[in-house]
Amino acid sequence: MLNIVLFGPPGAGKGTQSEKLIEKFQLIHLSTGDLLRSEIAQQTELGMQAKLLMDKGELVPDAVVIGMIRSKLEQNQEANGFIFDGFPRTAAQAEALDNLLSEKNTSINCMLALEVDNEELTKRLLLRGKDSGRADDQNEEIIRNRIKEYNNKTAPLKDFYSAQNKFHAVNGIGSIDEIFNALCTQISAVYQYN
Ligand code: AMP
Repeated sequence: MLNIVLFGPPGAGKGTQSEKLIEKFQLIHLSTGDLLRSEIAQQTELGMQAKLLMDKGELVPDAVVIGMIRSKLEQNQEANGFIFDGFPRTAAQAEALDNLLSEKNTSINCMLALEVDNEELTKRLLLRGKDSGRADDQNEEIIRNRIKEYNNKTAPLKDFYSAQNKFHAVNGIGSIDEIFNALCTQISAVYQYN
C-alpha cells in the first residue's frame, strides 16, 4: 500500500495535487474538509456542529475527524492506498492515524509538505473564495485564523513525521505540473513504481 499524508497550510494546493496523485497511483482521497462539507450539505447534526467552528476558521474536535477517517478506512479495505488531505491536523490525530493503520498492518509511507508563504496563501484563498463559494475562503480574518490554527496546532506535526524519517518538503510555488513532478520524485524515493 502507498499511504501519503499531504501536508501544508490552507491554500497550499493540497486538493489540486491530490487529484493528480490519486489518478497516477490509484489511491483513495480522504479529505476531512470535504467530508465535513458533505455533512453540512446533508444538514446532519455533526455537520451543523462542525459548521459553527469551520465558519470561524477553528478546528473541529479530534474525535469527530478521527471517527470519520476510521469509518472511511473500514469502507475501503481493498484500497491500493490513501491520500490523507487536511488530516492529521493535530498530534492526537497523527497518533490515532498511526494506530488505525497499524491495526490494518500498514503505515504512512511519507508526509509530503507543500511550502507556501502566508501572503501568497491569503491571496490564493481570497481568489478561490470567489469561485468556491466557501464562506471560510471569503473573509480575510477567517483565513488568517485558519493559518494561525495551522501554525499552532498542525505545523508541529512536521516533528512527529521527521522523527519517523517520513517528512519531505516540496516547494508549493510554481506550476501545477512542476509541483506534481517534485511530489512524484519524493514518492519514488520511498515507494517503487513504474
Ligand atoms: P480544509 O478543507 O481542509 O481547509 O478544512 C476546512 C475546515 O474544516 C477547517 O478550517 C477546519 O475547521 C475543518 N477541518 C478539516 N479537517 C480537519 C481536521 N483534520 N481536524 C480539525 N478540523 C478540520
